[in-house]
Amino acid sequence: MGNEVAVVVIGAGQAGLSTAFHLRRLGYEPGRDFVVLDHAERPGGAWQFRWPTLTYGKVHGMHALPGLELAGADPGRRSSEVIGEYFAAYERTFGLAVRRPVHVRAVREDGGGRLRVETSAGAWSARAVISATGTWDRPFWPRWPGQETFLGRQLHTATYPGPDSAAFTGKRVVVIGGGTSAVQHLLEISEVAAETAWVTRREPSFRDGPFAEDQGRAAVALVDRRVRQGLPPGSVVSVTGLPLTDEMARARERGVLVRQPMFERIAPDGVEWSDGRRMEADTLLWATGFRPAVGHLAPLRLREPGGGIRMDGTRVAADPRIHLVGYGPSASTVGANRAGRTAAREVDRLLRGEASRPPTKATEDRPTAAPEYERGNDLSPEGVAAADSAPR
Ligand SMILES: Cc1cc2nc3c(=O)[nH]c(=O)nc-3n(C[C@H](O)[C@H](O)[C@H](O)COP(=O)(O)OP(=O)(O)OC[C@H]3O[C@@H](n4cnc5c(N)ncnc54)[C@H](O)[C@@H]3O)c2cc1C
Repeated sequence: MGNEVAVVVIGAGQAGLSTAFHLRRLGYEPGRDFVVLDHAERPGGAWQFRWPTLTYGKVHGMHALPGLELAGADPGRRSSEVIGEYFAAYERTFGLAVRRPVHVRAVREDGGGRLRVETSAGAWSARAVISATGTWDRPFWPRWPGQETFLGRQLHTATYPGPDSAAFTGKRVVVIGGGTSAVQHLLEISEVAAETAWVTRREPSFRDGPFAEDQGRAAVALVDRRVRQGLPPGSVVSVTGLPLTDEMARARERGVLVRQPMFERIAPDGVEWSDGRRMEADTLLWATGFRPAVGHLAPLRLREPGGGIRMDGTRVAADPRIHLVGYGPSASTVGANRAGRTAAREVDRLLRGEASRPPTKATEDRPTAAPEYERGNDLSPEGVAAADSAPR
């Protein structure tokens, strides 16, 4: 077959680009030894799809990719533009030759210990696959009694158009969800809506001041424990709490940021709580988070009875040829950076350990490894705190 490589990296967001950078540093040549596939039209990972009012100044703890600073960005510009341009420059600078738009449909066994990566642009055969597909493509919409009877509009963070929309201006809006996205949506919609309500399953815990480093580590450790047991990653906001900004404090004073418990059912014209209260609503905005987009790995049957994929660091415990980066404990920009480095190194060791097997054409003439280089910034609490969450 024509498309034979040592490694396929799926996804060119923060995690996939960090992986590609580290593979290259280890001596793998983009396009020959490894290929990065992404189904989006343009560079930027999920950032390119985030809503227009999410300016660069509003993202917390966006860590630069390894090897190229993101300096001097205007905090008033859209983060989709700033980060889209930065990722494009990154790909150019390191010659990462990302193939797009290429949608990966399935990864399955290819015989001889290889993996077959089936895509919209043909198939690749690889000795290892590093999946860096994020969560944006899998918004989580909880099912709720009466949901299908609702006559107004229902939107999700993934399709949130910003507050200047007919769905919000002069309308009665219910925002559902306990994470940072829900709060950001609520604050800006409350400026244009006739009425808003904010509902969450659990009482949110607001936190003053900066996030302590040990809290960040605790949050990551919690998610790491879950995925090591084969459980779905779960939410980190329950550990990190919501950072209380001045804007949020003001919103609380004007009665906007007042949490209500989850309603019991959805009626055609609004929502109803168990104590008999009801609110008429035109729009329900589900800011209920995302799930890992790992459907393309289904043929490999990696899912455990607990509902997740059992992990050992970035490596799938059941199959060392497969790594997940930006998954679970590494679902933050700094976590994705670090996971890319770990996965690249482990895959390199795996492929070298297989030297007694007949080498593939791609690895035969591979240059020797580049020297070890310094460790980057590790687990930043800001990055962890910012990861989106779902009420569960
Ligand atoms: C609303 C929101 C705000 C956030 N804010 C912050 C923040 O301020 N700071 C922070 O540190 N973190 C933040 N995070 C978390 C952060 O976005 C992520 O941890 C990190 O950027 C994700 O990088 P990624 O590479 O894992 O995923 P993504 O950026 O989602 O990249 C995944 C890539 O994979 C591609 N892809 C997916 N499926 C396929 C497929 N089947 N075939 C081919 N390509 C595919 C997609 O096109 C995409 O380019 C935020 C998350 C959300 C949802």
